[in-house]
Amino acid sequence: MNVLVLNCGSSSLKFQLVETDVDLMASDADTCKARGVVERIGSQALITLNAEGQPQRKLATALRDQGAALDFILRNLVLQPGAALPGISALSDIHAIGHRVVHGGEKFKKSVLIDSEVLRGIEECIELAPLHNPANLGGIRAARSLFGEGLPQVAVFDTSFHSSMPEEAYLYSIPYPLYRRHKIRRYGFHGTSHRYVAHRYRQLEGKEREATNIITVHLGNGCSACAIKAGNSVDTSMGFTPLEGLVMGTRSGDVDPSILEFLAHKEGMSLAEVDLLLNKQSGLLGLSGLTNDMRELLDEEREHGDRRARLAIDVFCYRVKKYVGAYLAALGGADALVFTGGIGENSAEIRRRICNELEWFGIALEPEANVAMTGGKEGVVSTAISRVKVYVIPTNEELLIARDTVRCVKAVPRRW
Ligand code: AMP
Repeated sequence: MNVLVLNCGSSSLKFQLVETDVDLMASDADTCKARGVVERIGSQALITLNAEGQPQRKLATALRDQGAALDFILRNLVLQPGAALPGISALSDIHAIGHRVVHGGEKFKKSVLIDSEVLRGIEECIELAPLHNPANLGGIRAARSLFGEGLPQVAVFDTSFHSSMPEEAYLYSIPYPLYRRHKIRRYGFHGTSHRYVAHRYRQLEGKEREATNIITVHLGNGCSACAIKAGNSVDTSMGFTPLEGLVMGTRSGDVDPSILEFLAHKEGMSLAEVDLLLNKQSGLLGLSGLTNDMRELLDEEREHGDRRARLAIDVFCYRVKKYVGAYLAALGGADALVFTGGIGENSAEIRRRICNELEWFGIALEPEANVAMTGGKEGVVSTAISRVKVYVIPTNEELLIARDTVRCVKAVPRRW
């Protein structure tokens, strides 16, 4: 099946066109036929298209909304004469659409075929993800109007992998009625990424799902850690929103909540402004005063010995280390620690600093293997005697979304 995977943000749309099938899954013979991104939707948009067997194209045009962006992509990839991809020459060659949906609340515990009830459910979660869910719904509606009601669409939620967390992990210790009344609890995000790398780890180790006891750390511009027991997420570092937990590109991660009121008072800020500060001006950017980009910070530290760059990197690594320790305790030990995300996949230096002096916990990196594991490579970077194996596994959320889409569509033969 050819599955169009859509990840719609408020002003951006990322897509991949993936050929995959339940039968192919065992052999990992999926093919990415095209991928790309539309940025700055709502004004003069920038479009980057990568199609199989064709040179990359960068385009600019005014696109007013998600629908216009999707229409533009399809025109350029599928409908334009001469632009056809192998096996795809008409819209009818796209068999299903898989959407990344950020928040599924407590309602969606797995990926689902979208119908009017599911749409209502995603709408109900808007109050939990006011920026993301409306954009995701925009993508679903745009796809519906371009492809028609008959094309199956599937929602894959960032939160659903973490729906297996036990109460002691997802409840905040605030008055319990507030959880009942407002659903204030920890949900966790990045679930598709943690689930994908856990699945890949199982494949590499030849393990059953029930025997998968690992810690996964997704370190990119957004960062989160996940404790996985018997194949299920039992704890994760992001919470009610993606702000909690690790230090990120521009997000603070954990802070004492009293800082909010203190800051609002001292700096004369509204709570909305403090929230923006913690989400957009903190993390690596806030600490360094330079950039949210880890590669640039590492360059600054190495080339100019920049003190604030070093500080930002040190706080970042220390926080990850603390979560690894906490999750080793939560799991009663783990078989592996898996690094993924732009930083986790590419930076041997960050992996080294995180794993430094964790030998007592049974974590020992093999320096040469660690340095060699960059640029999309996959494998073990720990020593042969390390009790906890350390892996680098590049994430592929789009592939998991495409596979879930096929699974959901095939589970309902009426529709397929
Ligand atoms: P992501 O959000 O997963 O795309 O990750 C983006 C982050 O990965 C940015 O902070 C990049 O600087 C970082 N990154 C990518 N490549 C490297 C690298 N070779 N070394 C350090 N950080 C990197």
